[in-house]
Amino acid sequence: MLKLLNIVKTYGKNKNLTKALDSVSIKIKGGELLAIVGASGSGKSTLLNILGLLDIPNCGDYFLNGENTKNLKDKELSYFRNKYFGFVIQNYALINDYTVFENVEIPINYSKNTKNKKERVEKVLENVKLLEKIEQKGSDLSGGEKQRVCIARAIVNDPSIILADEPTGSLDKKTGKNIIDILKKINKNLKTVIIVTHNESVANQCDRIITLEDGKIIKDKSRESEETSFGNIDASSFC
Ligand code: ADP
Repeated sequence: MLKLLNIVKTYGKNKNLTKALDSVSIKIKGGELLAIVGASGSGKSTLLNILGLLDIPNCGDYFLNGENTKNLKDKELSYFRNKYFGFVIQNYALINDYTVFENVEIPINYSKNTKNKKERVEKVLENVKLLEKIEQKGSDLSGGEKQRVCIARAIVNDPSIILADEPTGSLDKKTGKNIIDILKKINKNLKTVIIVTHNESVANQCDRIITLEDGKIIKDKSRESEETSFGNIDASSFC
């Protein structure tokens, strides 16, 4: 479903050039529960942003359901982003003055399908066990509740892929476990869930763990211990 081939992403120029991703190739099947791990600065967020079409690589190919995303124009990119992806981020990015309902309805308002809005918002809030807070303001929620609203917002348009960047990073252990349990439940409903995490116990609950170091994949392990990556191919001939 997702295929990256020799993806290179650089920032800056000359002396200040940073290779955030250095010829990354991966194939991710529909329904995988995948963790991306690595030290700070190893390229995890850059990889997640490229997967979610929030950022564009300098070179390499990214196929999304067989479509080479290189050929997509800005409008198509945002259409694909809305259609395929739900984003869960560490600091929630909720609008504090909005109610829970108003926060969760935002992606529906940006999509073409605004039918049954109230029912859809209520259903996802029920899934994250937050229906009783539907009229509460974002500012009046705990960290764990905010993250659950963020997850409800990510799934309300029923995307097939959830991208989570350090979803437990700001939470205590117990609340973090609750968030991972919700993400695992979403994965059980045949959604692909990709989690960037520093937390070893979170990574160990995933079916596959990709480890990045200096923008390269140094390990790609599935639960059955087979190497699933295509391996890193020298990008110099492509870029
Ligand atoms: P991680 O998520 O693993 O901490 P990142 O993907 O955020 O790593 O960053 C990878 C490298 O790219 C780091 O060296 C970082 O400083 C650099 N980088 C990321 N985003 C930018 C940016 N917008 N401008 C310049 N450098 C960046």
